[in-house]
Amino acid sequence: MKLILLGAPGAGKGTVAKILTAIDGSVQISTGDILRGAVQAGTELGKDAEGYMKRGDLVPDSLIMGIMEKRLQEPDCQKGFLLDGFPRTIPQAEALKVLLAKLNISLDMAVSIEVPREVILDRLCTRRTCENPQCQAIYNVKSSPPKQEGICDKCGSAVIQRDDETEEAISHRLATYNEKTAPLIGFYEKEGLLKTVSGTSSDTVVNELKSALGL
Ligand code: ADP
Ligand code: ZN
Repeated sequence: MKLILLGAPGAGKGTVAKILTAIDGSVQISTGDILRGAVQAGTELGKDAEGYMKRGDLVPDSLIMGIMEKRLQEPDCQKGFLLDGFPRTIPQAEALKVLLAKLNISLDMAVSIEVPREVILDRLCTRRTCENPQCQAIYNVKSSPPKQEGICDKCGSAVIQRDDETEEAISHRLATYNEKTAPLIGFYEKEGLLKTVSGTSSDTVVNELKSALGL
């Protein structure tokens, strides 16, 4: 499958992507994971991106398009991909359209996962992430804590609250989403690719998408 996952921070894009990749061997491409990995590794990209990310601002489109142009040409994308957290702005969506045409790739759909704001706020304040850049497993202190407090079940690294998951950065990220990313819903509607799903339960999202894709 070749999907774009749209939705506010905390809508469950990453969770849904992880379940779907297991079905047909598609890869999850999360620009947030790639950027956090670069920040921890201290690469040039990481140094350029770090300040924006801490504030909850978007990283410049040119940096993101550089990452994606390379990533979409890696061999593991042949089986399909789920774009999680990209595109995030109209210019990124337009640049992606040009890039996909150049690579001769067509998308199945752009999925908008819709979740009420109260649910989003609650999820983000209670979300915890494995700090190992190769893992980045997601937990929730209320609904799915790690078996041993503060330790990742999958890799044994520390499970932490992200720097951009303070209350202030969260409300800034949500405002950025509404201003810059929500307009992509109209963009993909015009492209004839939009599918809207209610995201209060990730399992329901997955089942709806499976039937829409004939899986
Ligand atoms: P969430 O969806 O939970 O907000 P992500 O992990 O997708 O978080 O992204 C974390 C941060 O990485 C964003 O706040 C932003 O600074 C940066 N980022 C990720 N993807 C993009 C993108 N496509 N364009 C610009 N910035 C991005
Ligand atoms: Zn881990």
